[in-house]
Amino acid sequence: MGEFELIRQFFTRPTPRAVLGVGDDCALLQPAPGMQLAISSDMLVSGRHFFADADPYALGHKALAVNLSDLAACGAKPLAFTLALALPQADPAWLEPFAKGMLALADAHGCELIGGDTTQGPLNICITVFGEVPPGRALLRSGAQAGDDIYVSGTLGDARLALQASLQKLNLAEDAMSAACLRMDMPTARVELGMALRGIATAAADVSDGLLGDLGHILERSDVSATIYTEVVQGTMHNAAEARACGQDVLAFALAGGDDYELVFTAAPANRAAVAAASESSNTIVTRIGHIDANTARKPCLRLIGADGTLLPDRYASFDHFST
Ligand code: ADP
Ligand code: MG
Repeated sequence: MGEFELIRQFFTRPTPRAVLGVGDDCALLQPAPGMQLAISSDMLVSGRHFFADADPYALGHKALAVNLSDLAACGAKPLAFTLALALPQADPAWLEPFAKGMLALADAHGCELIGGDTTQGPLNICITVFGEVPPGRALLRSGAQAGDDIYVSGTLGDARLALQASLQKLNLAEDAMSAACLRMDMPTARVELGMALRGIATAAADVSDGLLGDLGHILERSDVSATIYTEVVQGTMHNAAEARACGQDVLAFALAGGDDYELVFTAAPANRAAVAAASESSNTIVTRIGHIDANTARKPCLRLIGADGTLLPDRYASFDHFST
């Protein structure tokens, strides 16, 4: 199968919303009048972000989900995406489920595939998403204020647990393994929650590299500090008991696991009812895990409070591709 036949068969679809989709030198996108475009790219590299033999349907889903998660963190509504794909070979048995997983999620969010690039090479999936948001209403990392509450959506730590089990660093019972693998392989982008938090959250980020690291970005950009109640964070983890039974540091999974694609966000205590309403309208659990403090030293500081109210040492580093 040639390059253009491959594009035609698997990646060319009607685009009722976009002015022009696949097939020309550029796609054309018409945002609604007065709206701002929110744009983000995420790349998934074989052997780095996923196993080379990963299920192609789940991989298609995940490649788009991690991008939608960035739109969610900004409170943007998905519009369209482009797909730059390097493939070792044009194998329809792989391409068909890959496209299916990706396009099923795209359809669920009304997000149209409008273009991309295809080349031969080691498997690499790079997506750019386009969303829209009313001017001045995008959720940023920079708006957190001393006194704000800190929340996370959904569950934390289970994707990391699945990764450790897949690498055979621990043994999970079958039920726990499949639940955890679902979190690692088929993450849910919190798009509806992000949009519902416009005008409510003072700052937001998605949790891709671990809660503490991603919250750390909010603290840096907002120039504030934070106090986190670690028992509450640990309580969000779905398979906490199973991880503990394997002798694992459950807290490390929840605080620094990564690959969660949940939202961490801040909001004024006066908006607790509004946060609860956003949680309900988006059908997404949110948990209040701490609060924002003014910086006491010159730089942001993250205080972790344990079950008995004592201060824990912060040894839960987040994931950094270039750390040594
Ligand atoms: P160009 O040579 O101008 O870069 P290409 O020949 O690479 O264009 O691609 C032809 C058309 O197919 C373009 O509209 C491009 O956006 C689209 N396209 C290429 N690869 C993909 C892909 N993986 N998914 C969706 N559209 C694609
Ligand atoms: Mg090209």
